[in-house]
Amino acid sequence: MPEECQVCRKPPISARHSYCARCHKWCSVRKEIRARVKTLKARYDPARDIFTCTYLNIPLNETDQDAPDALTFHHPIPKKRGKIKVSCSFYNAMISDLTDTEARRAVLALARRFQQGTAVDRKALRFRYWNRAPIKPPRIAGVPPFRAWRADECPICEKPPVPNTLYCARCHKMADAPDFSMVKLQALKEAYDPATDSFRCHYTGVAVDIQNLGRPWDLTYDHPMPGDGSRLVVAAYWVNVMKTQLSEDEFRAVVIEMARCFGTGEPFRMEVCEFRHWRKKA
Ligand SMILES: [Zn+2]
Ligand SMILES: [Zn+2]
Repeated sequence: MPEECQVCRKPPISARHSYCARCHKWCSVRKEIRARVKTLKARYDPARDIFTCTYLNIPLNETDQDAPDALTFHHPIPKKRGKIKVSCSFYNAMISDLTDTEARRAVLALARRFQQGTAVDRKALRFRYWNRAPIKPPRIAGVPPFRAWRADECPICEKPPVPNTLYCARCHKMADAPDFSMVKLQALKEAYDPATDSFRCHYTGVAVDIQNLGRPWDLTYDHPMPGDGSRLVVAAYWVNVMKTQLSEDEFRAVVIEMARCFGTGEPFRMEVCEFRHWRKKA
């Protein structure tokens, strides 16, 4: 009979139990129990009586599952069962589709871009386990339909339009979505780079793919301020996913701070970001 909790070594609930009441909460599941016990044990700090995030070293919140620092279990290889690590909720959400190595590379590349303006090398980033469907246009009632008119030049890229239509053939494909709007048109216009005749991700500066196939570098629209529909920017799909419910300023601060933690091993400083919109997520 166990005399101590298998995770924290405190007295178990009873002689028949393997865990104390606190650890029981995390280990009383059907799947991945062994892996959970292993990672919890590894991340338990007896001196402070806390669990810390495997990646960002912050104390984990065990009571509020909606908090950005909530204790969660992260799959270092996306969706692969049996290998899990304790992590804070926001890291888990941001790194959902990337392996740890891929995530580090992506975060460091973004941080260098944000801090020094260093170009992101698209070929240096890997997304081996990326598995997402294309973004389906939502049908939101009340969005005014986009009124088409004839033009002498495509309103997005200024190339000649297809005769008797508004857009050039390329831009028409993007503008033909049921939820296309002036806000999206503005985002495309801002992202358009005439020198390369491509659309650049607002965050990485990398030319994105305009087909909506659900791939990491596909063009998506991101709300720089969550919940504010008045401005959109073009973002690569993977950046949009990583940005989660952060505002643009918060995202930049979190990425730079994450890169600092990866480099130094020091704990993430939660004060760099307020996570203002975090709890409003669906
Ligand atoms: Zn325990
Ligand atoms: Zn065009």
